[in-house]
Amino acid sequence: MDKTEKKNILVHTCCAPCCTYVFQYLTDNNFNPHGFFYNPNIHPVDEYQTRLEELISFAEIKKYPLILKEDPVDTWFEQVRGLENCQEGGKRCEICYNIRLEETAKYASKSDFDIFTTVLTVSPHKNTEMINNLGTKLTEKYNIEFLEADFKKNNGFKKSIELSRKYNMYRQSYCGCIYSIH
Ligand code: SF4
Repeated sequence: MDKTEKKNILVHTCCAPCCTYVFQYLTDNNFNPHGFFYNPNIHPVDEYQTRLEELISFAEIKKYPLILKEDPVDTWFEQVRGLENCQEGGKRCEICYNIRLEETAKYASKSDFDIFTTVLTVSPHKNTEMINNLGTKLTEKYNIEFLEADFKKNNGFKKSIELSRKYNMYRQSYCGCIYSIH
């Protein structure tokens, strides 16, 4: 690839506020980001729809390509069965991160992206080390590079909040699953 050419990166995206700063950062750092919304962990359905619609509006405004992938929510519940009472950032979240990262890696690989990543590390509530380890483990299986990142660094989280306010975005008050609501 020509060094001046931007790398096509498939970015797992959970919501519009987390994308604001991350997509800007990637664009400024020689990437061409495409969003990949795959989040069977977001409940209830109204909340899922609200987050998705907000993301679609943002992608339209900023002209970011956005890919949607939906699966029956039952599969997600089956995979985290028995872990309902885990602390946030623990085993249930590890499985949840992996479900979403694996689908992103799979799609990126079969669709000829150069690399994949996730916006999740922009949040101070997420386990960055765990996310980066999971992403790195998928590189061999799907023969695709993973961009290890900690997007909250350099005030990334603060900047994402400022940008969300600028765009008057809906910002959720919990991570996603019904176990994280309280
Ligand atoms: S708290 Fe968030 S990351 Fe953890 S299982 Fe629930 S939705 Fe997934």
